[in-house]
Amino acid sequence: MPMTVVRTRFAPSPTGYLHLGGARTALYSWAYARHFGGTFVLRIEDTDVERSTPEAVQAIIEGMQWLGLTHDEGPFYQMQRMERYREVLAQMLEAGTAYHCYSSKEEVDAMRERFTAAGEKPRYDGTWRPEPGKTLPAVPADREPVVRFKNPLDGAVSWDDVVKGTITISNKELDDLVIARPGGVPTYNFCVAVDDWDMQITHVLRGDDHVNNTPRQINILRAIGAPLPQYGHLPMILDHEGKKLSKRTSAVSVMDYPAKGILPEAMLNYLARLGWSHGDDEIFSMEQFCAWFNTDHLTSSAAQFDLEKLAWLNNHY
Ligand code: GLU
Repeated sequence: MPMTVVRTRFAPSPTGYLHLGGARTALYSWAYARHFGGTFVLRIEDTDVERSTPEAVQAIIEGMQWLGLTHDEGPFYQMQRMERYREVLAQMLEAGTAYHCYSSKEEVDAMRERFTAAGEKPRYDGTWRPEPGKTLPAVPADREPVVRFKNPLDGAVSWDDVVKGTITISNKELDDLVIARPGGVPTYNFCVAVDDWDMQITHVLRGDDHVNNTPRQINILRAIGAPLPQYGHLPMILDHEGKKLSKRTSAVSVMDYPAKGILPEAMLNYLARLGWSHGDDEIFSMEQFCAWFNTDHLTSSAAQFDLEKLAWLNNHY
């Protein structure tokens, strides 16, 4: 069997600074690529045009530069890839793995209410989903369709998460996802799937707030005939009280730390250990970390941010 060339990515949404959680995701993805002599890709997920700003892109790149997390390819911007997304949408419509849905928002809301009232999970009822032998309604005039993914109706999606172990989610939970809004504007999970395919990503390490997106992306990847990457979902970083890390209790932007006298080496060393361990080793260089790092020792429980520990490490540099 040919050896797989490792390709990882960091795919931030540029809606703010590079926060500690993002920096740790970037660090692990970078180190995994370095460990295997692979490629680390930077992709800017800027399709949320309301919240994405060029300043945030700059801040993220600046944070990565301060840490020395150099990317080998990119940055690729999703907003510059619209033509490609439209091409894949057209192919999926042609292949019958996606379909035009002309249900109005009010109709979809009513469907969801009906399911909820019946004690079922709210979902789209499949009115416009083509099936062999089914006659579809007449296309209403003056209504722009959305594109829905034809999600498998039965079975389940299962993957071996390198952090959390096997995760299985029933297809019944997933619904026929809208993959393009009226006017053909592609939606989030679809763009991520196409990008991971085009960029030949082999390993996806990201925050566990994305666990629910993964089965949707896997189904889309399967439908377009793309190989599946391995997934690992990192638990979130909590503050010293065990609460979600927030600006109120700690500085959450990586770039708040240089002014506090924290060195990038110490921050990297600290982030490396926030969710991964290597025996009793506490102080190490990034060269050492890249040589050690694989997914075997990633911890599945939430890590707690401890400023004193970071300061202690900083004194060793
Ligand atoms: N853009 C997402 C975020 O910033 C990450 C998506 C991913 O890694 O797949 O949370």
